[in-house]
Amino acid sequence: MRLFHCDRCGAAISFGAHACDACGASVGYVPELRRPRVIVPASDPTVFHVAAPGDVSGPMWRCLNAAWGCNWMLPADSGRTWCRSCRLTRGRPDTGRPEAIAAWTTVEAAKRRLVHQLDEFALPIEIGSASMPDGLVFDLVYLPGEGGITGHLDGLVTLDLAEADDVHRDRLRRRLGEPFRTVIGHLRHEIGHYYWMRLVGQTNEIGSFRRLFGDERRDYREAVDQYYATASPTWDRTRFVTGYAGSHPLEDWAETFAHYLHIVDAVDTAVAHDLVPPDRAGVLVTEAVGTLGFVDILDAWRPINAAVNAIAETVGAATVYPFDPAGTVVDKLTFVHDQISSHTERDRFYSDA
Ligand SMILES: [Zn+2]
Ligand SMILES: [Zn+2]
Ligand SMILES: [Zn+2]
Repeated sequence: MRLFHCDRCGAAISFGAHACDACGASVGYVPELRRPRVIVPASDPTVFHVAAPGDVSGPMWRCLNAAWGCNWMLPADSGRTWCRSCRLTRGRPDTGRPEAIAAWTTVEAAKRRLVHQLDEFALPIEIGSASMPDGLVFDLVYLPGEGGITGHLDGLVTLDLAEADDVHRDRLRRRLGEPFRTVIGHLRHEIGHYYWMRLVGQTNEIGSFRRLFGDERRDYREAVDQYYATASPTWDRTRFVTGYAGSHPLEDWAETFAHYLHIVDAVDTAVAHDLVPPDRAGVLVTEAVGTLGFVDILDAWRPINAAVNAIAETVGAATVYPFDPAGTVVDKLTFVHDQISSHTERDRFYSDA
């Protein structure tokens, strides 16, 4: 992710900021600009304008979920009350269940990071509806004790809100022998299934997909059940990015897609913090995806990842990202890269369906 700065005082501000910590200016994330900006209220105190000189954004509202941490803005004349990210989610938990609300706000914060990254890539995201059957919808479900809810079906991403609980998630991670299990990882995996439909399933790339990942028409339920019955912390790392990726070709794609997004976000964050060699300075993968080869991205990423993991070790923290793509995994990540770079819609303005 980029580094963001306050329009008023220049201090660094976070992606999720509602105000600048240094000068106190009100801040809202403007999706059309893909960054948080200082905002000033108009005569109607619910209406805001971007404070930066020359900005042409019209009057804006804060998202109705601002009270639950959302800092995104939306056009005041849109006739809507929720931002682009929140509108992708159907409903929200009952406010009488604080543990469900806390989990939901954690997942929504991760989802805003996801939507931001997809927007940086200019990948198509339309909100699913009767008139937009290829669109996307999230159901964030709180059903304690019920496992196996998380998944994707025809543009509907369902996520078990229990995954926002660190203790619960780590228990599952250990049981399944996974080196890594995060909320943003789940979101990047499930959105990977959605983009399989959009970038592969509906295109003539299906032949290349099957040569690399295998035949996705294989029985899905049987393959995934088999994986859960025999999950193990060891797998062939030259073939699959994770153990779960080996369960079925569609899971392999979704895991590879998620790890591609992890790697790109790590490189972009390092670029934003001036931690890459001068020849890469200022080049964000998400912005230049059409001109970069995946091998170059991986070359930039390897020393960054090694350093981050080594620094984590110095403070006694767990390895941050315990993966090192090799063999066919690199070819699969390259395939994801190629599909994304050929589907960016750089000239698109938000259709906001
Ligand atoms: Zn400031
Ligand atoms: Zn919102
Ligand atoms: Zn999956």
